[in-house]
Amino acid sequence: MPGNPNEIKLVNNAMSNATRRKIMNFLLAGDKSTEEIEGEVGKTMLDFHLKLLQQASLIEIEEGTVRLSEYGKNFLKDKEEKGADKTADISQAKPIEITEVRQFLPCIADSSKFRVIANIAPPLGGTLKVLEPLFSRGKYSDKINALIIQKGEIITTIYGTGKVTMTMIKNEGEARESLENLKSTINNAIAKGVAPAPREKVRVEPMELYKYLPQTNCGKCGEQSCYTFAIKLMSDEASIDKCTPLKEKQYALNQEHLQVLTAYI
Ligand code: SF4
Repeated sequence: MPGNPNEIKLVNNAMSNATRRKIMNFLLAGDKSTEEIEGEVGKTMLDFHLKLLQQASLIEIEEGTVRLSEYGKNFLKDKEEKGADKTADISQAKPIEITEVRQFLPCIADSSKFRVIANIAPPLGGTLKVLEPLFSRGKYSDKINALIIQKGEIITTIYGTGKVTMTMIKNEGEARESLENLKSTINNAIAKGVAPAPREKVRVEPMELYKYLPQTNCGKCGEQSCYTFAIKLMSDEASIDKCTPLKEKQYALNQEHLQVLTAYI
């Protein structure tokens, strides 16, 4: 049964994907054949998804029959109970609207990009903290009562007061599109009345990130070696999309691992 940090990471990685969560919930109704699972979630990468769930000890597979392990059942039960607590928190929230996009200023880091200030209403206040797990690279700061979200180059900060700032924005169109995406992600969670379970806080070491990098020291990320790049990832001075070789098919699994690991930094 998962208990140490490495095993917990396997579980978090397995449950970080919507298809795998759907498979787990489908198995709640009872044992299923792989064909039945295929009918529910589709054929794409099904073997891969099942393998990750099995590696995490969440499911057992025997002669084409897939079932939840005891740990998998307890994991879902625990998640459901935590989810019930969070429902109370989020049920207070009302859907948000973008009420104003009021300032475009050149970014300090890159003057060809813009810093945007906008407003949402009603303000989300303390609900922001509960919404943190909606965003793979989201981090709630108690100190400034704000949720900080990184997506590619863009960093969006949503304050409890309703103010929103965005950096490294190309133009007004990109600002409005990013704000609309943000609004729809948050409003979908509010409509469901259930916030995602908080992520486990797991300590990540540079060597662990290095393990999943291509280890070719090609320099395309602008660093001299993959290990230097791993250290930059740790200090949030780089993002994994700067390692373009990772986009190659052979590194698809490595990229997925890195996305999960960097979310814990
Ligand atoms: S681009 Fe990727 S493979 Fe190349 S040095 Fe940077 S991290 Fe390593």
